[in-house]
Amino acid sequence: MDKRFGLVAIDENEVRPLGAALNVPDGIEDPLLWLITQHDHADRLTSAVHAAAREPFDYAALTSPIVRPPKIIAAPVNYLDHKIEMSEQKSIAEYGVFLKASTSVIGPNGTITLPYSDKRTDQEGELGVVIGRAARGVSREDALDYVFGYCCVLDITVRSTEDRSTRKSFDTFTPLGPWITTRDEVSDPGALDLQCWVGDERRQAVSTGELLFDVPLLIEYASSVMTLEPGDVIATGTPAGVRELHHGDAVKVAISGLGELRVVVDGTSAIPYSTRPGAARFAGARPETNM
Ligand code: MN
Repeated sequence: MDKRFGLVAIDENEVRPLGAALNVPDGIEDPLLWLITQHDHADRLTSAVHAAAREPFDYAALTSPIVRPPKIIAAPVNYLDHKIEMSEQKSIAEYGVFLKASTSVIGPNGTITLPYSDKRTDQEGELGVVIGRAARGVSREDALDYVFGYCCVLDITVRSTEDRSTRKSFDTFTPLGPWITTRDEVSDPGALDLQCWVGDERRQAVSTGELLFDVPLLIEYASSVMTLEPGDVIATGTPAGVRELHHGDAVKVAISGLGELRVVVDGTSAIPYSTRPGAARFAGARPETNM
């Protein structure tokens, strides 16, 4: 299938192909990431959009807007109601941020693969922030200048004992999309309505105004630890309402102004947790002190 890169003008129900106008090099797998890494991307985008042809929008044909972000930074326990539902004593202020594997990304209409047949795997609907330029030690006052745009994210999570980076990094565990809404279209990332549906059940509904660390503070905090690079994605955390996914579920995240991200769930290759690699290795041994 011919894969192309373009701007979705959703209000006009149009797509505007941009690859030629932006001189995206042949063979580039991640054209939007390539564009964001160009220092003058804002000017290039503006002129290319004005010159672009207009075609009818075909929603079903969308793929992930960024295929392989340099980093996926995620916020644990960043809404009070989720802290309560998980009986957490600590929040992001104590945990800091964690990393998800960038290979866990899938796009709209993708399929989440459940790894285990007998361990909970939950949906976590979240606001995603895409970084637009390198950020190191930025203040919360300046933080939004470093944002390229926003999208819907699912931070899919196995409820088991492993570190977050393991439980949340299985392939297919970071659906994002349906597109990136550029920051000029979002007047306040702290005033967006987020909803997450599984089938007909609305499991999550919140305003991003309820975030414990809001978007500017997340960028200030994360950039005090690590250099944020163009194309990095920050998953800002999930509100209450996380629950188990099952084979055949349809999951939808909707955020005001950012569109709707839809994916499905496949459990046909799930294995018993006790048969995972290494599980039986120390089964007969005395428990050692945890490191
Ligand atoms: Mn999360």
